[in-house]
Parts: sequence; C-alpha cells; structure tokens
Amino acid sequence: MAIYPIRQFGDPVLRQRAREVENVDGALVRLVEDMFETMYDAPGVGLAAPQVGVERRLFVYDIGDGPNAVINPEIVESSGEWSYDEGCLSIPDLSWTVVRPNSVHLRGLSLEGETIDIEADELLARCFQHEMDHLDGILLVERLDEEQRKAAMSILRRRALDATLPSPL
Ligand code: ZN
Repeated sequence: MAIYPIRQFGDPVLRQRAREVENVDGALVRLVEDMFETMYDAPGVGLAAPQVGVERRLFVYDIGDGPNAVINPEIVESSGEWSYDEGCLSIPDLSWTVVRPNSVHLRGLSLEGETIDIEADELLARCFQHEMDHLDGILLVERLDEEQRKAAMSILRRRALDATLPSPL
C-alpha cells in the first residue's frame, strides 16, 4: 500500500471530468487500497480518484462506518436542503458553510462489480455530492456564494504567491 500526494487547488487534474471505469481489475483494487490509506492519513472522510491524479470515476469514503468504494457513481435523486461547514482535502485548512440537498440516492458499482444503491442524508449525502463534484471537475469554491468566493479566492491567491517565494534558509 502507498500514500499518494493529494493534488491541491490549482492542479489542472482537479478541473477535468473523469472518465468511466471500464474494468474492475487488480490495478483498480490496489488503487482503491491506496486511496483508503491516503484518505485515512490525511485525514478525511472522502477522497475521489482525481485528487490522487487518476482521472477515473470512483471515490472512497468512511464517515465512521468503515471504508467503502463506489465505482462509476451517479446521483439519481436528491431532495431537501442542508447547510454544512464543508471542507476539501485539495483546499486544506479552509471550510465554508454551503447549502446543498439534504438527501441523495446514489447508485454505482462495488469493487465486486455489483450494483450499489444507497439512500443517504446529511453528512453521507454531503460526502457523496462533494466527491461526485470532484469526478466532474468541480471544486468546492464553485459552490460558494459570491461573497464567500471572493474571500476564498483572495486567500488562495495569496497562498499561490507564497508558494512561489524562495524558502527561507
Ligand atoms: Zn474535495
């Protein structure tokens, strides 16, 4: 098993729509194991393949009930509204109160190739929507209102600038 570096805001891989997984093979199973390890190391409750530089439609999650992976997921239904302080491993140390649907019905495939149907609400539903966004190349900053987004972009621009300065000796 291996821990991947998590791709950070500004990395173009995070802006791509990931492609469907065609074969669930040994390489994919190893990728999922490495993604679990990367997610726990971070630590986070969800991690999408593009965040480790793999443009494929799958994500892993664990909101406290054990590790799970979903391949080629889709949200087939969503309802309600829920406000939650949401963060992202690709935009560390920042979070914003974001309103999204409270409940979603997620469908996808398990690592065994079986259809998974999950009715989720609150944190799990939020996790699914966040990871689905990653598969579509959408980052949390795009879910912010105008005021939040302006503040976020100014912090992120400052961070990018700091990163280009020479390190102190
Ligand atoms: Zn994220």
